[in-house]
Amino acid sequence: MPTQGTQPTNRGGILAWANTPWGNFVAEWDENGNLLREECKPQKKGEVAKHYRETWLEAARRAAHGVVHGAVGLSKAALGVDATEKGVRDRRWEVCRSCDKATRNKHGEPNRCGECGCVLAAKIRIARESCPLHKW
Ligand code: SF4
Repeated sequence: MPTQGTQPTNRGGILAWANTPWGNFVAEWDENGNLLREECKPQKKGEVAKHYRETWLEAARRAAHGVVHGAVGLSKAALGVDATEKGVRDRRWEVCRSCDKATRNKHGEPNRCGECGCVLAAKIRIARESCPLHKW
């Protein structure tokens, strides 16, 4: 199971972290929601790593900003990069596999979405992502 959480800092900001199957992420914001530091270590390389890092930071920033400004409902899902369950992920993958918009790798498996440019292996794992053609 991913471990994730937040805690207030002694400077009045918020610290968020998530240890997930696709990487370890830590970030700290000040009381105004400004990013003070980040240590993002995605498991993958290149574009997939960039996508994971940017997605987690954005999801965590939104959640942390809400905490800083008093929102009660911190989204644990968002801090865990808003992870999809395996069943959902598998269904998304099957849709993308049969989609003519998906680019393919040399094995014929989906690589990127031709509509939004996302790396599909990452996109299907993030719950707040959606198919630009509303297929999932
Ligand atoms: S995200 Fe949607 S449009 Fe993109 S490849 Fe998958 S099914 Fe096709």
